[in-house]
Amino acid sequence: MTTRSLDDRYGRVATDLRVSLTDRCNLRCSYCMPAEGLDWLPDDSVLTDDEVVRLVRIGADLLGIQEVRFTGGEPLVRRGLVDIVRRSHEVAPHLDLSLTTNALGLARTAGTLAAAGLDRVNVSLDSIRPETFAAITRRDRLQDVLAGLEAARDAGLGPVKINAVLMRGHNDDQAAELLRWAIAEGYHLRFIEQMPLDAQHGWSRDGMVTADEIFGRLEKEFVLTPAAEPRGSAPAELFSVDGGPATVGVIASVTRPFCGDCDRVRLTADGQVRNCLFAREESDLRGALRGGATDEEIADRWVVAMRGKRAGHGIDDPTFLQPDRPMSAIGG
Ligand code: SAM
Ligand code: SF4
Repeated sequence: MTTRSLDDRYGRVATDLRVSLTDRCNLRCSYCMPAEGLDWLPDDSVLTDDEVVRLVRIGADLLGIQEVRFTGGEPLVRRGLVDIVRRSHEVAPHLDLSLTTNALGLARTAGTLAAAGLDRVNVSLDSIRPETFAAITRRDRLQDVLAGLEAARDAGLGPVKINAVLMRGHNDDQAAELLRWAIAEGYHLRFIEQMPLDAQHGWSRDGMVTADEIFGRLEKEFVLTPAAEPRGSAPAELFSVDGGPATVGVIASVTRPFCGDCDRVRLTADGQVRNCLFAREESDLRGALRGGATDEEIADRWVVAMRGKRAGHGIDDPTFLQPDRPMSAIGG
């Protein structure tokens, strides 16, 4: 068995694998999907549970992957999720396993997922006001999300992180309120700048809420100081709130890109490796899986896929082109 690593031409090494388990979702967040949803991938093009677990094993055994985050679309709508988590944990017990989810239905499954080997969850929540939540997600489901969060905390899937996107005119006035609530509940809140990854191509550089604006809003009510712990490859800049121990994170993907420290690689639900969220090329592993390739051959393809990773996403570059697939299809 030859061990390799997923390094690129700029000296970065990917050890953090994001696996999209489905492109489908039960919410319709306006920065992600149109109200009518999307043309979902045909069932037979989506990797089976066996195929996902095999790729996780190859990543862990042959390619130096240390963390796997299951995402989507909404990973909780994938029927085999608990099984995939359990089997991933069995084939590679050292992996750190996490889930990025909207938390709908998590109240029912958090305990089972923790027992299956899941370590942590990140939950997306942009407002704790029912009407704002419904306006952004186009579904009146705030109470389900809050119940899911509590269940995750009770099941030990912590520290529970919350990802929030601020949208001008919808919730950009609620940053401080969300932070105060998250601190009281013991959740770790991180604000994410809106990126040009929505299917409707509705993003604009002028319309997005920047990290500077987020700081401006928070600093009216809190004292923020850079947190002591090193950032490493983590995308969030962390700040202590009012002297700590509470913190808040800001993921300034657009205005302060962290591409130089990126350690991620993505696998889409239909088995394509993407070396960057904003990549315009993908490398097909599903064809290799279904064509009888050995583990070593698949690992070799994966290594080649990483060599083409660009230095940065170039969102601020005049030649920037939004990728064909939206965030929900790539796996956020
Ligand atoms: N459905 C799950 C969820 O919402 O957590 C997982 C998939 S979702 C695509 C992953 C993350 O991407 C969420 O935290 C969501 O807020 C974020 N996201 C989606 N579209 C985005 C965009 N255009 N800009 C920034 N973040 C986005
Ligand atoms: Fe669904 Fe997540 Fe996209 Fe919202 S951000 S529509 S929950 S995939």
